[in-house]
Amino acid sequence: MKVVVITGTPGVGKSTVVQRALQEIETGYRVINFGDAMLEVALERGVVKDRDEMRRLDPGVQKDIQRMGAKKIAEAARSENILVDTHATIKTPRGYLPGLPIWVLEELSPDVIVVVEADPEEIAGRRSSDETRTRDAEDVSEIMEHQLLNKAAAMSYAVFTGATVAVVENHDKGLEEAAKELAMVLR
Ligand code: AMP
Ligand code: MG
Repeated sequence: MKVVVITGTPGVGKSTVVQRALQEIETGYRVINFGDAMLEVALERGVVKDRDEMRRLDPGVQKDIQRMGAKKIAEAARSENILVDTHATIKTPRGYLPGLPIWVLEELSPDVIVVVEADPEEIAGRRSSDETRTRDAEDVSEIMEHQLLNKAAAMSYAVFTGATVAVVENHDKGLEEAAKELAMVLR
């Protein structure tokens, strides 16, 4: 079964591009949000109240929950194509945490890693209009650095697994184009 990992800095519009791309193709994918899988574990343990608290937990705890999340997702990947909605790096108070350290890569064995990007100004604008989340305030140069590290991280995950890396740009008014590019990867 095919495993595609889709990454992108918060607010880049990953979930929207995914939904649009899936409407274009015949191949079926089950979309699994890595954050949801982790949140289930974190709530059971009583260590957080919502998803935006997870990245502020002690890194050791985050990695433990991350490993449990990866195991849950790997089970689903045995029987169907899966598209994992996650992050190449997570910005934590103690620095960038890798979203796919080696033990997560071993569980998931991705075929493709997609990095969704936009201009830092576009991302800042999208974040400020999303009231459903507690987004961290990041200026344009910080978003630029985060996106650079995300691409570097994705390529290093590819070196371990042989996965290909696809960079998809999701600009304002460019959703259709982004969805078409992603659809090509998923087909
Ligand atoms: P999201 O809804 O995609 O922003 O994910 C919610 C939260 O889940 C993130 O802020 C992270 O704390 C956590 N998360 C998601 N994917 C990963 C991952 N691969 N590794 C570690 N934490 C993750
Ligand atoms: Mg999302």
